[in-house]
Amino acid sequence: MGSGKVTTGSAPFDFQGKHVTVAGLGVSGVPAAKALHARGAIVTVVNDGDDARAREQAEELRALGITVRLGDGATLPEGTELIVTAPGWQPGKPLFRAAGEAGVPVWGDVELAWRLRGPDAAPWLAVTGTNGKTTTVRMLASILEAAGLRTAAVGNIGVSLLDAVLGEETYDVLAVELSSYQLHWAPSLRAHSAAVLNLAPDHLDWHGSMAAYAADKGRIYEGNQVACVYNVADQATEDLVRGADVEEGCRAVGFTLGTPGPSQLGVVEGLLVDRAFVENRQKNAQELAEVSDVRPPVPHNIANALAAAALARAFGVPAQAVRDGLRAFRPDAHRIEHVADIDGVAYVDDSKATNTHAAQASLAAYESIVWIAGGLAKGATFDELVAASAKHLRAVVLIGADRALIREALARHAPEVPVVDLDRTDTGAMVQAVTEAKRLAVAGDTVLLAPACASMDMFTNYNQRGDAFATAVGELRA
Ligand code: ADP
Repeated sequence: MGSGKVTTGSAPFDFQGKHVTVAGLGVSGVPAAKALHARGAIVTVVNDGDDARAREQAEELRALGITVRLGDGATLPEGTELIVTAPGWQPGKPLFRAAGEAGVPVWGDVELAWRLRGPDAAPWLAVTGTNGKTTTVRMLASILEAAGLRTAAVGNIGVSLLDAVLGEETYDVLAVELSSYQLHWAPSLRAHSAAVLNLAPDHLDWHGSMAAYAADKGRIYEGNQVACVYNVADQATEDLVRGADVEEGCRAVGFTLGTPGPSQLGVVEGLLVDRAFVENRQKNAQELAEVSDVRPPVPHNIANALAAAALARAFGVPAQAVRDGLRAFRPDAHRIEHVADIDGVAYVDDSKATNTHAAQASLAAYESIVWIAGGLAKGATFDELVAASAKHLRAVVLIGADRALIREALARHAPEVPVVDLDRTDTGAMVQAVTEAKRLAVAGDTVLLAPACASMDMFTNYNQRGDAFATAVGELRA
């Protein structure tokens, strides 16, 4: 970790009379265009699509005097001095190539929010990682609230960053979830403290390579003031801390499911303990909470709780508030959600496990599992997941478009595990999947929906997939 570079924060940016191009309508583009226009910028919005929704949004913006070009997101408008892009727009797009050639800077929604903060703005405690971001940020907000701080969970969840920064509400501190896309486009962000929870291949089509993905995640540590929080079990996260340029005195703080060393948070005899933010950390440790205070108390979620606790402690939150905040926390739907117990079998909905890394974590959390998996693989391979999880599998029920990929991995690494391959992708398939799972499960087992795939082949999104599972489980009872 290189230190010594004093970061004074980003210079105030005067938008008055500046020609700003907003790339992409939608959740971040519309409020960004309005905020820029309100600050005197001459705004042009460019959008690839030209559908009914886009036209409606365009009308609203045009009424304010903002120029909107529908159906052409590729051409750089004449005179552009700055681009503010929707985070999902790929860096390789022609618009950005043109911007690069013309020396025009590109900001994402996070950079814009960061630049628009007032002089007394709340510091940010930031979280990224391949999996566990939303859960960790919500745990963190719950802990900060328990400490009596005015806070919100923002980013990809709840309140948008721009609203949090520009709205009426004032905050003491923000718990901010950041995706790798958002970090890519946020060059001057400087968090108070930040955590990278884990790093596994994801979104590589967007970033171009694992190295580029990791580098974008690592930006979250740049300029941190108090703590860079990393996962002791995931060397790549520690490497990112080492590579970061931070404020003088900023510390590297690890979290571990094992016994913590100095400058780490970890677990000792059923307790979450802090050996980082205590007096004399060579000798002392501070008890924060019991493992059973974490909901649900499965290993990867305990890791999330430790990361949240580390950030809260970096902000000076007392131990008691960590415990109270974790106890008050309620997990979001479709994340290791316990749906029912029927005939001694637990039914658990982890529909949010949309990639192999997430599914591997939830498969590690139960002894004996009837696993419901499949959907859209998004280019993933399943060998590692199946090899690591085979010992937990009683049986597997496969659904969805890319189920053959999982079936083949099972044949290679777990040939003795019974597999039911449902050759249908209609919405009724989930009822059949759950019925088959019930037939295969014995008392003490867990029927786990952890698809390791996206849902869009059969469902609108992972919420609908999880709801279909819960409904089907409900019908088992009837
Ligand atoms: P994100 O916001 O990063 O998508 P969520 O908190 O919504 O993360 O959790 C998504 C899924 O990832 C969960 O359903 C669970 O299967 C898995 N998960 C959560 N935390 C972790 C973790 N620390 N490591 C691995 N997988 C995790």
